[in-house]
Amino acid sequence: MLLKLIKYLKPFQIPIYLVLVLVLLQSLSELYLPTLMADIVDKGVVTGDTHYIWKIGGFMLIVAAGGMICSIAASFYSAKAASGFGKLLRTKVFTHVGDFSLHEFDKLGTASLITRTTNDITQVQQVLVMILRMMAMAPMMCIGGIIMAYSKDAKLTLVLAVSIPVLVLTIVIIAKQGIPLFKAMQVKLDRLNRVLRENLTGIRVIRSFNRVEHEKKRFDEANWDLTQTAIKVNKIMAAMMPIMMIVLNLSTVAIVWFGGLRISHGEMEVGDMMAFIQYAMQIMFSFIMLSMMFVMIPRASVSAVRINEVLDTVADIKDPKSSLSAKSERGYVEFKDVTFSYPGAEMPAISNISFSMKPGEVTAIIGGTGSGKSTLINLIPRFYDVDSGKVLVDGVDVRELTQEQLRKKIGFVPQQAVLFTGTIAENIRYGKETATVEEIEHAAKIAQAEEFIANMPDGYDAVIAQGGTNVSGGQKQRLSIARALVRKPEIYIFDDSFSALDFKTDAKLRAALKGETVDSTVLIVAQRVSTIIDADQIIVLDNGEIAGIGKHKELMDSSAVYREIVMSQLSEEEIA
Ligand code: ADP
Ligand code: MG
Repeated sequence: MLLKLIKYLKPFQIPIYLVLVLVLLQSLSELYLPTLMADIVDKGVVTGDTHYIWKIGGFMLIVAAGGMICSIAASFYSAKAASGFGKLLRTKVFTHVGDFSLHEFDKLGTASLITRTTNDITQVQQVLVMILRMMAMAPMMCIGGIIMAYSKDAKLTLVLAVSIPVLVLTIVIIAKQGIPLFKAMQVKLDRLNRVLRENLTGIRVIRSFNRVEHEKKRFDEANWDLTQTAIKVNKIMAAMMPIMMIVLNLSTVAIVWFGGLRISHGEMEVGDMMAFIQYAMQIMFSFIMLSMMFVMIPRASVSAVRINEVLDTVADIKDPKSSLSAKSERGYVEFKDVTFSYPGAEMPAISNISFSMKPGEVTAIIGGTGSGKSTLINLIPRFYDVDSGKVLVDGVDVRELTQEQLRKKIGFVPQQAVLFTGTIAENIRYGKETATVEEIEHAAKIAQAEEFIANMPDGYDAVIAQGGTNVSGGQKQRLSIARALVRKPEIYIFDDSFSALDFKTDAKLRAALKGETVDSTVLIVAQRVSTIIDADQIIVLDNGEIAGIGKHKELMDSSAVYREIVMSQLSEEEIA
């Protein structure tokens, strides 16, 4: 899975090759140093040739400095390549997610998408740095070390023939224990994130229901679980170092022992033995490096799988290859026998819906919660695709228009008013980038937002806090209505957008709206009968099916469901 991400490394070829070359040079310098030292000992110290010691000693310094510079430069370029790679990947995931329809959001989950874009990519990025540094270094040091050690003394290499298998065996055993735990840790981290997220977003509910203790316990459990696994992993990893050091040091003892014997027989020189010890260290450290890589890679693979899952998800709503240009008609919407079900649902959320709307008319949808009102209107801007039937806008199937063409025609006020961080004016201008100050003020006036905006400290330049927490629910709704109004669309869609307004403001807003929307098609979803009583056409939804369609008077006669809703809300004289 990690391999599938390699194609995104392409733009960073140059720094990556640079790192490989630099690491190669660094390895060469490190492999050369013990040989130089052996020379100093055998040809300088033993014979007492001070001049030779200075000469080779100076050369050693230069080689060491060269190695150091290469190492620093390699760090620089590997960090550069890896962070560039991370940035590219984040952009890819972000833009890809931008093409998702609501289906895909439902499937992957918003919280998970956030962790995948941030934490998982960081994980892969960090491993990349490691791999870049060690991938070339470990094999170089291992093979180079063996060759150099063998050239110093062939017989002494037998010591390595014993210690290296022991080392490899320990690494394999430890990795086998550790890797599954690393995988488990990622899952447990996910769980902790989920609990934390629910806690933070639901803080009001938790406090008002006195569930703080319960939530604390839930968090502690998830936290404890993760900690236990982390401790276990770290214990295993911590055991690795002492075991390796024992193997390393025992090998050194063996080298000194057998080397000493060979020196006393005159078959080896002291300096060569010292160099041999260093080569043995380098070889064994290269194995440690390799083992670290093998631990990190499975860890990053878990993240890579999660990233690829996002990148491989194909949005099922795509623009048509050749879009029909919408006809010159404006504001006509027609549902033709539409049925739609959410993925995994047993029953369709709405079924056999047929009706049409035209400019200058107000269509209202009323029905109990969960009757499919929001589902129905989400089909007009093509947030979802229908299962069967057709949604036509201006006489063209919405699937034959590009999403931009289609959505340009629509002013959508969602059930959950969403504002963005920024000023009030910026939030209204979201509906139309080129809106003038007059247009913004006009829209705010129609949406009955003028008064409270005037009362804000900076008026239109007042800053909306993150998530719109510094305005009330009703104010939020009015701002999101203004945002749709400033667009002057062909089709207005209000999904329960008046629910947080008091009756008086609701009435005033609808009166002002009437003047604004004479040429447009208006679709209002509402809970209150008083909001929709004057509509040209009322659609009564019940369990995803149309239970009645007509004007208020007609429905009072013909639809039992409608009568029931009306009875429950209006007093006797109002009905009469
Ligand atoms: P309303 O707006 O009339 O209150 P909705 O259209 O939101 O009702 O929901 C209609 C039905 O579809 C409900 O039974 C609800 O559980 C289901 N539903 C709504 N949104 C989703 C979704 N994203 N995924 C699955 N089921 C959904
Ligand atoms: Mg709804």
